[in-house]
This record gives sequence, C-alpha cells and structure tokens, in this order.
Amino acid sequence: MATNPILVIGAGPVGLAAALDLAQRGQSVEVLDAGHSVSDGSRAICWAKRTLEIFHRLGLELVPSGITWQRGRVFKGARDLYQFDLQPGGLQQQPAFINLAQADVERALLDQLAGLGVPVRRGHTVVGVAPRDNGVSLEVETADGQLTLDTPWLLACDGARSTIRRCLGLPFKGKVFEDRFLIADVRMAADYPTERWFWFDPPFHPGQSALLHRQPNNIWRIDLQLGWDADPDHERQPAQILPRLHQMLGDRAFELVWASVYTFQCRRIERFAHGRVLFAGDSAHQVSPFGARGANSGIQDIDNLVWKLDRVIRGASPETLLASYDLERIEAADDNIGHSTRSTDFIAPKGPWAQALRGAVLDLAATHAFARPMVNSGRLSQASVYRASPLSSADTGFAAGPKPGMAIPDAPLGDRWLISSLGAGASLVRFGATLPAPDLTGIDVPADSVAWTRFDATPGTAYLVRPDGYVAARSRTPTPDWLATATARAMGASQ
Ligand SMILES: Cc1cc2nc3c(=O)[nH]c(=O)nc-3n(C[C@H](O)[C@H](O)[C@H](O)COP(=O)(O)OP(=O)(O)OC[C@H]3O[C@@H](n4cnc5c(N)ncnc54)[C@H](O)[C@@H]3O)c2cc1C
Repeated sequence: MATNPILVIGAGPVGLAAALDLAQRGQSVEVLDAGHSVSDGSRAICWAKRTLEIFHRLGLELVPSGITWQRGRVFKGARDLYQFDLQPGGLQQQPAFINLAQADVERALLDQLAGLGVPVRRGHTVVGVAPRDNGVSLEVETADGQLTLDTPWLLACDGARSTIRRCLGLPFKGKVFEDRFLIADVRMAADYPTERWFWFDPPFHPGQSALLHRQPNNIWRIDLQLGWDADPDHERQPAQILPRLHQMLGDRAFELVWASVYTFQCRRIERFAHGRVLFAGDSAHQVSPFGARGANSGIQDIDNLVWKLDRVIRGASPETLLASYDLERIEAADDNIGHSTRSTDFIAPKGPWAQALRGAVLDLAATHAFARPMVNSGRLSQASVYRASPLSSADTGFAAGPKPGMAIPDAPLGDRWLISSLGAGASLVRFGATLPAPDLTGIDVPADSVAWTRFDATPGTAYLVRPDGYVAARSRTPTPDWLATATARAMGASQ
C-alpha cells in the first residue's frame, strides 16, 4: 500500500490545489476526475486575499490575469446608499479580491501540476469506495472498463454531489434556500468602476436583488434574484433572460455568454476526516455564493489539511493532526454557513416583519454608519479563526494583534513580504528577539515595518506560525522552553 500514490478524487479547484500542495511536499499523488475538461459555464469568480496567499505559496500568480478590486457599493432602489473598502490599510502583497473565472484558475493549477509530472486522469469516475484500516479501495469506471485501485489516503474533493460521500452514507445537514437566482455572464464594453455593486429592490428588477461584478476580457457577472415561484426551465430560456438584462443594462450592447438558474444550499457533513478518507471543498460543505465562500473555503481546507497529512505520512500522530483538521475546518465551515445563511436571509427576507426590518435598516444605512454593519449583501470571505484549536498555546499579555488560531496579517519587510517569507514548516517571526529557531524558518522583522503595529509587538516579541500561516503561540518574553513546547504542540507532537 505504501508505494501507491495518494488519490485525489475531483479536478475542481480544491482537488487540484490539494494535489499540487502534496506534490510540492514530495508526496506521490494522482488526480482522478469523471469529467473531460475544466469546469464549464461560469462558477466561482471572486478569489479572496487569503486564497491568493495560498495560491502564491503554491506558485500561482493569478493577480495579473484577474480583475483586482477592494471596494463595494450598495444601492436601494435607484439610491446609492454607501461604499465599503475591504482593504483600507493597504500594504499587503495580495489584493482584497481578484475576479477570475474558475476555469482559468483550474487551468493555472493544471499547468503547475503538469510541470511536476502529477497525473490528472480524466474520464475516471469513482463508483465504489471501501475504506480499510491502512488504506482505501476504489472502484473506478473508465472508457476501457472498470478498475480497482488501492490508495493509502483518499482525498474526496468530488464536489457537491460527491459519490464518495454517498458511498460512505454521510448525510448533509443544513438547509436549501427557497429562492432562485439567474446568474448570467455578458460581454460588453462598459466603464463602470471596478467595484462590487449590489442592489436591493433595483428599479430595473423591482422587489428583488441584483449583483454586478467585472471579470477579465469585458465579461460581467450579473446575479438576479428571481423568487422561489420562478420556473427554472422557463427562466433559463434566452427569450426570458434577454429582456431582464436589457432592463438592467438599458441601450448598452451586450452578448450573453452563459447563464443558468440556481438554488443554493448551506450545509455540511458532520465530520470531514473519516479514517483514511478526507473530505474537502464542496463535498464537505456548501454555501450560497453571496460572500464568495465556496471555492475560497475549499482552498483554505487544503491549506489546513495538506501539511498535516504530509506530517502524518512522515510519522506524526494522525489522532492529533487529522482530528485538528476536522475540528478547525468544521469551525470554519460553520462560520461560513452562518454568514451565508444570514446573507441569504437578508437578501430574501421571509415574511412582512423581516421585510419591514430590512427596509428600515437600509434606510438608516444611507445616513448612519452604525446601521451599515447590519446590511448584509454577503459578508465577503476572509481567513477563518480557529478558536478552539488543539494546536494553539495559551495566550497572555497581548491586547491586539493576531491571537493563536488566527491567520497572520501580511506586512512589507523591506524588499520582501512577511507571508511569502514563511517556510514550508513552522516559522518564528521575531521582533527584535534573539531567540534561536532550530528547525524553524526564522524571520526577523525590521524596526521600521508596519508589522510591529499589526502584531502588537514590543522589543523581544516572537510569534510561532504554523505551516499554513496561522499563529500557534506568541510571547513577549520567549524562551527556548516556551518555543520547544509550543512547537511540539503546534506540529501535533504532544497535547
Ligand atoms: C454561480 C456560482 C458562483 C460561484 N461563485 C463563487 C465565488 O465567486 N467564489 C467562491 O469561492 N466560490 C464560488 N462558487 C462556489 C464554487 O464554484 C465551488 O465552491 C467550487 O467549485 C468547489 O470546488 P470543488 O473542487 O470542491 O468542487 P467542484 O468544482 O465541483 O469539482 C468537483 C470535481 O469532482 C469531479 N467528480 C464528481 N464526482 C466524481 C466521481 N464520482 N468520480 C470522479 N470525479 C468526480 C467533477 O467532475 C468535478 O471536476 C460559486 C458557485 C456557483 C454555482
């Protein structure tokens, strides 16, 4: 078994990122996918800073190919209520967001995998899964017949309709939103600012909501809420779609590139780690697209999982590390599901009271900043916080800065960036501390860096950072004993 590669099922963004991360850590890995190409139609477009940091670590530079943005604007009717800025402090290597088609991200991941010689086998459909103590057997259908494959570890990244989830009898818990949305991509020349625009009750689509996003190559993403009564088959017809888009875009010439009608779910399976079968991405959890949390959280699952799996394969205890994947990413999924559920409830209020409350909040938001946090057109994806991580050490003596269980903020360090300076293993970020860091990547923060403020650092402060860029421990008076204990805990060696 040990000589068989790890199998990743699903060549969506999550499976491809998993395979790339594993291969870069020296693991033997293959990807199997039922389909024959990258994802068709238009799915994810908004990629968040945290995900871009992970992609950067994996060697993908997507920013030049995408549309960079950080501002949003909220309208009610024809009224421009307010704007928001997702990265007001600046001075981070990656932008708040880029917009880039999911298929382009998948192509970039495939290019990296090809460079490393990682096989991505298309036309391979998993139809059966038999977990054992030391591995997993798979039944796979191909054009040449059925195969039985063995793998020591199976990464189930096979999306929302996961066969592996069904084979293991793992039910989803959560809810389906009783609303339908038309999602359309149009090509048009337009000089709108590069911002996220969200309308409640717009004049061109009364009583519903609308969202506009710019993509590369003059493509624009339009989401129009349709209501639960809308007939999806009818609404998918161009004869139905085009008048809706003309209402919104007026006389502007456009070409309809792609459209579909969606209903969204907010739900997850109970646990993501099942012995040698590990779920990540949409196979484990789903959210509505308001907030761009689907693919972004899937990539963050991988960032959390792969360094742990790599260590387990090299001899660390699976009980601690894979249990921490379960715990941390379930907490993240619940956070995402909570945000997504609240957004969807605000966008599609059920009942006259909810409708009236929303109207009052929107009216107040136009003139009173305090009401704006109550407006919810989608809380946009950010790094999750692991509040109860078994890998974190106790925290004392800090009033601000990232706590253990939080992703570190980026900052310039002279001619480089803090996050890009992290090592493949754990790192020690030192603020004037002289503490030696054997077996860690040591990073000394220059005296003039904004990182001092961002980390609430005083001379001598040190932060221990996990391989996924999360704080494991911090101290204003670090000692070798503190570092040894915190590192052992962070890397799953002891509890
Ligand atoms: C309209 C829309 C807009 C969205 N916008 C955003 C956004 O802006 N930002 C964001 O973060 N997310 C967004 N999402 C969500 C995002 O598209 C998903 O979260 C993302 O695709 C999940 O990636 P994945 O790799 O887990 O699964 P998928 O992309 O679904 O990939 C699963 C893969 O598994 C393969 N597969 C399935 N079954 C089998 C089998 N039995 N055997 C072998 N292979 C199999 C499939 O062929 C597929 O390639 C959006 C979704 C939609 C629908």
